[in-house]
Amino acid sequence: MADEKKRDYYEVLGVSKTASDDEIKKAYRDLAKKYHPDLHPGDKEAEAKFKEASEAYGVLSDAEKRKQYDAVGHAGFGGGFGGFDSGSYSDMFSGFGDIFGDIFGGMFGGGRRGARPRGPVQGKDTTYVLRINFEEAVFGCEKEIELSYKDECRACRGTGGKDGEKPVTCKTCGGSGEVVSSQRTPFGMVSRTSRCPDCGGTGMKVAHKCPSCGGTGYTNTRKRLKVRIPAGIDNGQGVRVRGEGEPGTNGGGRGDLIVEVVVRANPDFRRDGTDLYARVKVPYPTMVMGGDITIATLDGSVTQRIAQGTQSGTRVRIKGKGVPRVNGVGRGDLFVDLDVDIPVSLTDEQKTALKEYRDSLSRQPGKKKFFGK
Ligand SMILES: [Zn+2]
Ligand SMILES: [Zn+2]
Repeated sequence: MADEKKRDYYEVLGVSKTASDDEIKKAYRDLAKKYHPDLHPGDKEAEAKFKEASEAYGVLSDAEKRKQYDAVGHAGFGGGFGGFDSGSYSDMFSGFGDIFGDIFGGMFGGGRRGARPRGPVQGKDTTYVLRINFEEAVFGCEKEIELSYKDECRACRGTGGKDGEKPVTCKTCGGSGEVVSSQRTPFGMVSRTSRCPDCGGTGMKVAHKCPSCGGTGYTNTRKRLKVRIPAGIDNGQGVRVRGEGEPGTNGGGRGDLIVEVVVRANPDFRRDGTDLYARVKVPYPTMVMGGDITIATLDGSVTQRIAQGTQSGTRVRIKGKGVPRVNGVGRGDLFVDLDVDIPVSLTDEQKTALKEYRDSLSRQPGKKKFFGK
């Protein structure tokens, strides 16, 4: 299944590219109701459909992820090792708490009774800014990065409690995980709901903190990861590495790591989308009489014939020598502006030839007044 070509997420959910959040949510809810594994025990096809829909929803329901998907398609996801497909099945459920609450609330009457105040909370996504060269962005590359990696504390198994002490309901927020604060603004009093600072939004807290992690439940280590950057990626775009973000709480899966690229400029080429722009100096006689010139592209030199009487500033297009599209289909073009190469020093022989040429111009009828002595 992993080898199959990925379907377009919009197609999976059966919605248009301009679908609203509500339409996406509704489409996913309908599909999840139809294919949920609990309703089809042992049915591999239903499970696959459910996973596919969940994956599509996971991306399209998140404004940031959707934007990235719209820009670069599947290429922007699962680019790294431990990509999309390696996310465990249970990981996929996390983050969908609200929607499953809706579904099961309606279907099984009353939802999960006796559950903890808050369900699994998916870990936060983290961002790593990676600087790459112009050519690396154009042709793609593989990079090893080292990042600060938050992991569950082994001493307390993520509870944050000393000697395995179990967390109890947080007094600050009463277990809701949220606190409401009021602030006076020029527009009046504004109430804001934010994550409880005492329990970090989990609704649970320990009385005695674990000495290994200071009660956070986490340890910080360094981790090395290999990340594949797809050819054609542009400045500011990112690659999503599934499950390498922050760990979740209450059994929630890890968030994702977004590797955002910053592309170094290239002195010879300017990039606009998938097209490249460059300037080339051409000797005056070649511009006048036409001929072959050599143009450096990002992948080797090409010979380009230019016509007789080519004017300075003429733009030539070299098809297919631009940037590959991230979806892997084709490349943009290279546009080269031709400038006249004005020599700053001449040999005596060249000087004589040029003077002769100038004199011949003044003898040419109708052109006289444009050339001084
Ligand atoms: Zn600990
Ligand atoms: Zn709290």
